[in-house]
Amino acid sequence: MRGRFPGTLGCHMAASTAGHRSEPLQRVVAVVLLEPRFRHAIISLVAVRGTEFSVAIEDYAKAIFALQGDADGPVTTTAVAERLGVTPASASGMLRRLDDLGLVAHRRYHGVELTAEGRRLALRVLRHHRLLETYLAESLGMPWDRVHEEAEVLEHVLSEQLETLIDTQLGHPTHDPHGDPIPSPELVLEERPSRCLASLDAGAAGVLARVSDAQPAMLRYLAERGIAPGARLEVLERQPFDGPLFVRVGDDVHVLGAELARAIRVELPA
Ligand SMILES: [Zn+2]
Repeated sequence: MRGRFPGTLGCHMAASTAGHRSEPLQRVVAVVLLEPRFRHAIISLVAVRGTEFSVAIEDYAKAIFALQGDADGPVTTTAVAERLGVTPASASGMLRRLDDLGLVAHRRYHGVELTAEGRRLALRVLRHHRLLETYLAESLGMPWDRVHEEAEVLEHVLSEQLETLIDTQLGHPTHDPHGDPIPSPELVLEERPSRCLASLDAGAAGVLARVSDAQPAMLRYLAERGIAPGARLEVLERQPFDGPLFVRVGDDVHVLGAELARAIRVELPA
C-alpha cells in the first residue's frame, strides 16, 4: 500500500461519499441551536447557498480527488459512479458538466483527472468537511461516529467567514477526529506516509494515524475499546488467509478482523 490517503477511505474500499442529504436546513438549524456562543455569527453567516447542482459538483470533485489518490492517475467513469452510488450514464453526464466548467480534463482511454481548479474545489470541500467534523466533535461533543454524516451535508453550505471562525475557535487544528489531515487555509494538504494495518507483518509497531470515517458502526466498536488515532500500536501476530490480527494498542491486546484492519492506517517510524 502506498502512503497516500487523501480521501476518507484510503485502503478501505467501501464507498460512503454520498451520505444523506435529507433536510440540510434542519441540520444547519440544529447546529445553530446547539452552540449559543456562535448563534449570532452562524445565523448571519450560513447562507444555504448549496444548490443541488453545486452540491453534486462538489461531491464529484471530492470523489475524483479521493480516487485519484488511490489510483495515482486518471480515474474511470465507472469508478466515479461506483463511489457515488450512481449509474455510469449519469456519472458520465455529470463529468461532461465538470469538463465544461474546467474542473476536470478527459484523458483518452484513461478517464478523467482534476484540473488545478478542480483540485482546489475538492480541497476546499475537504477542508470544510474535516473542520466541521472537528468542530462537531470537540466543541459540540458529538461522538466521532456521527460527525461524518453531518459534515457531508454542512460542508456544502459553510461560508468562508464561518470556516475562519471555526478554525480560530479550534486553534487551527491540523487533523480531524479520525486522524485525517485538514487542508490548510491555502489548501495545502500534508499527508504523512502511513501504512494500512492489514498490510503489516507481526512485529511492526507505530502510531495509529487514521481510521476510515466511512462506517459508523466500526467507529463505535473501536471507541468502545479505546482505539483511536494517536495510540501506540504493535502487531503481535497475524493469522493467514485474511484472518484476524492480534494487536497491542496502548496496554491492551485486541483481536481485529481483516475488515477493521483495512480501515486503520499506521505511521511507522522512519
Ligand atoms: Zn468525514
